[in-house]
Amino acid sequence: MEREVWLCPFCKTELEYWETMVVETLVDHVCDPNGPGSAQSMVKCSNPECYSNQEEVQMRWDTYGDSYTFGTKYEVREDKAIGKNVGPFGSVARKSGVEIYRNGVKKETWFKINPCWLTFNLGIFGEYQYQADYDGNVLKKSIKWKRVKKEKDGAIILYPTIFHDICQKLKWFYSDRRYFFKDPKGSFSQDELLKHYEAKLPEWDTRFYRKFCKWWVNTFYIKTFRKLQFAMGKHSIAVQWAVDDLKGKKSN
Ligand SMILES: [Zn+2]
Repeated sequence: MEREVWLCPFCKTELEYWETMVVETLVDHVCDPNGPGSAQSMVKCSNPECYSNQEEVQMRWDTYGDSYTFGTKYEVREDKAIGKNVGPFGSVARKSGVEIYRNGVKKETWFKINPCWLTFNLGIFGEYQYQADYDGNVLKKSIKWKRVKKEKDGAIILYPTIFHDICQKLKWFYSDRRYFFKDPKGSFSQDELLKHYEAKLPEWDTRFYRKFCKWWVNTFYIKTFRKLQFAMGKHSIAVQWAVDDLKGKKSN
């Protein structure tokens, strides 16, 4: 829950009303980038000794908890804030500081599994995902893994992992299959399911997960295909293509 009274992210003292002024908040900027902004009751730290109240800093916060500085110094030491998060305790900004910007928490990690992958300069790159409360405490942490390849020019390209691709594709198949069994006569459900069997991959498409899923579906769910064939009428052109494809008459 949001706190009634926010606490300063630098010294944890209560924040107090400063003045009302028109600013362009993050929300204003997203909704209407060229708009006039909105009037906000700005708050400041009630502790005069606080870093945020120093002449060169003068940090103030809007009603979302986003910060603004009115000081003379160009750069504000955000690392001086508790948890490197300049969102006040109790605000949406503190929560999103962790969840979106990952302030003060681990952002990413690398994981290299086997030497063969290293030869191809492939690594697994993980991005941490967080759920936090309004005080910026982490409630839940997970890692989203991505496959990474370093190109000759040094650029890093991210790929979803093969495992992720396979799961996605099979999930799609099982959902279409369930849908077909619920409504075997529906032409939409038939067409959607047939796509998994046809799987006429274009020549350029040599991706392992596509081949694997095609093999999986055709090996373990051939009975489903027979039912589909029966439901669609054996002589429908689409079914004939699929039959040829399964027999290997057509190349991928
Ligand atoms: Zn303070």
